[in-house]
Amino acid sequence: MLSIARLQEFDLKYIPGLGPARGDVLKKELQISNAFDLLYHFPYRHVDRSRIYSIRELQSSMPYVQVRGEILSVETIGEGRGKRLVAHFSDGDGVIDLVWFQGVKYMLKQLKLHKPMLIFGKPSVFGFRINVVHPEISEEGDYVYQSPGVMPMYHTTEKMKRAGVDSTRIRESIRTIFTRMGHDLEETLPTWIIEQEHLMSLGDALFQIHFPDNADLLRHAKYRLKFEELFYIQLNIARYMSERQRKYYGYKFPGVGQPLLQFYDECLPFELTGAQKRVVKEIYADMKTGHQMNRLLQGDVGSGKTLVALLAMLIAVGNGYQACMMAPTEILASQHLESLREMLGTMDVRVELLTGSIRGKKRKALLEDLKKGEIDILVGTHAVIEDWVEFPALGLAVIDEQHRFGVAQRAKLWAKSDMPPHILVMTATPIPRTLAMTIYGDLQVSVIDELPPGRKPITTLHHYDDRRVSLYQSMHKQLSLGRQIYIVYPLIKESEKIDLHDLEQGYERIIAEFPKMTVCKVHGKMKAAEKAAEMQRFVSGEAQIMVATTVIEVGVNVPNASVMVIENANRFGLSQLHQLRGRVGRGADQSYCILVTGYALSEITKRRIDIMVKSTDGFAIAEADLKLRGPGDMEGTQQSGMAFNLKIADIARDGQIVELVRNIAIQVVKDDPQFDLEKNEILWKRLTELRNITKNWGAIS
Ligand code: ADP
Ligand code: MG
Repeated sequence: MLSIARLQEFDLKYIPGLGPARGDVLKKELQISNAFDLLYHFPYRHVDRSRIYSIRELQSSMPYVQVRGEILSVETIGEGRGKRLVAHFSDGDGVIDLVWFQGVKYMLKQLKLHKPMLIFGKPSVFGFRINVVHPEISEEGDYVYQSPGVMPMYHTTEKMKRAGVDSTRIRESIRTIFTRMGHDLEETLPTWIIEQEHLMSLGDALFQIHFPDNADLLRHAKYRLKFEELFYIQLNIARYMSERQRKYYGYKFPGVGQPLLQFYDECLPFELTGAQKRVVKEIYADMKTGHQMNRLLQGDVGSGKTLVALLAMLIAVGNGYQACMMAPTEILASQHLESLREMLGTMDVRVELLTGSIRGKKRKALLEDLKKGEIDILVGTHAVIEDWVEFPALGLAVIDEQHRFGVAQRAKLWAKSDMPPHILVMTATPIPRTLAMTIYGDLQVSVIDELPPGRKPITTLHHYDDRRVSLYQSMHKQLSLGRQIYIVYPLIKESEKIDLHDLEQGYERIIAEFPKMTVCKVHGKMKAAEKAAEMQRFVSGEAQIMVATTVIEVGVNVPNASVMVIENANRFGLSQLHQLRGRVGRGADQSYCILVTGYALSEITKRRIDIMVKSTDGFAIAEADLKLRGPGDMEGTQQSGMAFNLKIADIARDGQIVELVRNIAIQVVKDDPQFDLEKNEILWKRLTELRNITKNWGAIS
């Protein structure tokens, strides 16, 4: 039985054809430093090379083909850049030309005349003859020559290719490892799981993924490897959660307290939606257990998360603690401050704002009051979690728009008091279930799946950018009804200059087109105060049109705004478009979202625009986004090292496996709370190894 440790000790430099120099390249380029790593470098596809063609059969329309034969003669043709090496190759039935444009000198030395060989490449026609450019060649001693079959293809980089580590070299090196070591490999999953789930053994799976005997075995192999990869992520989360439950107690709030009741009776401006009521109950149920709450609140834009947050904070305040609420930008933080104060009316609950731009005496006084426990709710930006901000007893931290807050920042809250505060993370970017299970797997999830009554669904339209006349007409119409309009431009760091130029141009055009209107302008390059002032002009209704970059993406609330025009809409992600669209449709009027693009759109972009036009369901959109773009691009996932760096599983496509392994992982931890059952020995050992070698695994929170 071969152990993983032995494979890990197997240095690649001992593999013929690799050696120290190429081993170094593998390490630098792909972080592959031993035989075990190399076996986990999975092929991105397989090519069936079981068929060998005769030259007479070849046609230029064929994909890759294989021919056995020998080189009759070699010549170099042309000069300078056009110089190429041509080998006339025959299988006895006919002649084709093998052509090299690069490495002519090297190939000239390598090629042997009248030696049997197997060539593999894409046929094309040049003149009257079939050509194969840069074919892969194998000779009698090579394994491929003996028994060509299903061949694995591997990703390589430019640097690797230049060092002679191409897909073939990787394939042969992996073959060498199996030939030397066999594939009777020590298991990384316990027998009971393998039997219960009918999994292929690790050794077989690793062998079959590289050199499958047939498509069925390849599928089994992939399943086993995906299962294992996703399972350990879930086991890590499950174990972490159970450890934390045991280690960390949380504040116990035995009652909802007087402020909440008073608020309910005197201040609540409207009836809560059914979903809001349910979620508040879920939150309170956590707060009275004596364990720390870690809850993710998902709710589409406009679903009323702020009010839920306020109710939760009032529970903390009513129990004699403070609460804080963090927003990703100063503008949002001050909007939250305003709406909280407005909702609270004359109630005796003190709410204050702390941001980076509150300095000097004002800040000092604020911090003093906070320390004395005179402030009940502190609203702010990242500033709130700085070390110099001292709460006497922080009972609840609300984090709005999660994706701007890193995992490490969340963890900083722990240090604020002896006990960790309850945590409520709110996001309007709905995260597909299976992704949430992976990234926020340790959070309990609450969902507001109902919008406050009386909202008209937003109408979304796609407009080509040369049809501005009709676009401006509809804008004129809305403005004449007294409504306000957002016009949003993308702003991406890499093309910042061009983007800002677009925005300025658009601004000038709007001023010219709407001379009677007041137009304000907001973008991320402006100073915070300037930005806030411009934004305020729109919020107060002084300006009817706002031209902006995505700084308005999250949270801003102007119910009178009924039109959202998104320029270069093709450059935004689906979730981002959905967020932007959520800025309108907040009042009782019919609202519009107009996606403006040019004519040249890729297939995927067309599909994305189509989804936006047809759907207003944030979850459906997020699901579609995940499928179209993959998890690496999803908002909110960048900080998580776990969901990507996946070697074989794909969160978007392997959702079923995610669900399955999560259930098994939870069950394992439940059955084996001390992590010491003999039947699970392999699991805990392997998990420890993985925690040691996988970045970010130790740091989930
Ligand atoms: P989001 O979930 O996007 O943060 P907000 O909390 O900003 O949404 O709420 C959007 C708007 O809906 C606000 O103007 C808020 O006052 C209003 N609202 C919230 N809950 C209700 C409700 N139950 N009934 C009517 N309006 C509500
Ligand atoms: Mg909000």
